[in-house]
Amino acid sequence: MESNNNLRFDAEHIWHPYSSVTQPGLMHEVSSASGVRLTLSDGREIIDGMSSWWSTIHGYNHPRLNQAAKSQIDSMSHVMFGGLTHQPAIELATKLIDITAEPLQKVFFTDSGSVSVEVAIKMAIQYFFSQDQKQKHRLLTIRNGYHGDTFGAMAVCDPVNGMHSMFEHALPKHLFAPAPTCRNDEDWQDSDIADFRDLISTHHDELAAVILEPLVQGAGGMRIYCPEYLRQVRALCDQYNVLLILDEIATGFGRTGSLFAYEQADICPDILCVGKALTGGYVTLAATLCTDKVAQGISANGGGVLMHGPTFMANPLACRIACESIDLLLESNWQQQVNDIESQLSRELLPYQNEPSVKEVRIKGAIGVVELDKQLDEHMDWLPKFIVDQGVWIRPFRNLIYIMPPYIISQEDLTQLTKAIANIIKKLSTMS
Ligand SMILES: *Cc1c(COP(=O)(O)O)cnc(C)c1O
Repeated sequence: MESNNNLRFDAEHIWHPYSSVTQPGLMHEVSSASGVRLTLSDGREIIDGMSSWWSTIHGYNHPRLNQAAKSQIDSMSHVMFGGLTHQPAIELATKLIDITAEPLQKVFFTDSGSVSVEVAIKMAIQYFFSQDQKQKHRLLTIRNGYHGDTFGAMAVCDPVNGMHSMFEHALPKHLFAPAPTCRNDEDWQDSDIADFRDLISTHHDELAAVILEPLVQGAGGMRIYCPEYLRQVRALCDQYNVLLILDEIATGFGRTGSLFAYEQADICPDILCVGKALTGGYVTLAATLCTDKVAQGISANGGGVLMHGPTFMANPLACRIACESIDLLLESNWQQQVNDIESQLSRELLPYQNEPSVKEVRIKGAIGVVELDKQLDEHMDWLPKFIVDQGVWIRPFRNLIYIMPPYIISQEDLTQLTKAIANIIKKLSTMS
């Protein structure tokens, strides 16, 4: 009863992500969560295949993260960051500088991934502004990208499947190269970078930065591409004096098999965005790191201060939990866990490659993606319920069914997730 009232109120009054208030869709109330399981208010337990959007890498309700949060609350939940600093921020910056590429030496804390992208873009534009190159203020990116929902970030999301159609008139116009097609370095062909090379060579005079998600594109299409593409992009950025922003908000902290995806291409960005798994999914926090060269450049020639400063910048509670989450990760055998998940996903999902309703199955690290040959829109009347009825939490969108479970998931639980995906595929195949 209670729960029905809650759901009714929710449907009437509360916005959810990308939701319509007139057609709210199926909603579940979560009463608690532990390990890889969410407990619904009707008592059912479901296995989380989404890591709450890439973030809960250690699972829910982790004793060490809980303890970190509790002890930080007892000393100080928050204090403004203007003119004040604190141990949690200093420790977290130390860790981030430690685990990222050596040239990244400066850390700007933000409260969400989108804002860390805004800050990255501001850094790049201000860098050239300070050097009297105001005309270098545009961005170059690749199609099928996703960088967040705020205006600056939205302007570099994929122009077709992103939100451009509604906001096009209000967005800055950036440049888009085709999404990379090479899957791994073995099938690298120079033609894959040709359009990107044309764009950067033609427009470098007006470009401040290239921004992209390394190796795995998330919400813009769940696509996977080869490290060689990144190496080429890095070289072209150097050649044309354009900064490289890597958005590792989804890929960071081990998800693709290395701590950061750029490591697999053996390159270093000028600016790096991290978020999502930064606090192990406990509270919102993100960060933008940059090199000394970028930081010095921003303030060169009396260029002055970096123009950003969120109210909750470097929130001590969030920073403390992030420190603990990074410690947990580094102390764990995450690499083995991610490799094991990758092998199991390959074993259990790749066989569905040949089903009539499947266009492609893609696996990278602890990420499994099934791209269907059709959009799922017309199936949304039965699919969400069908999924939860199998005891799992998976949230397909467009023509994609994908999972990126917590690294701690057991083999049996992962099998339950892949079986659920298999059942969706089979059902779709019989319907087509
Ligand atoms: C989720 C995401 C963002 C936006 O982060 P928010 O915390 O949702 O603002 C940006 N870039 C990538 C690659 C993401 O996956």
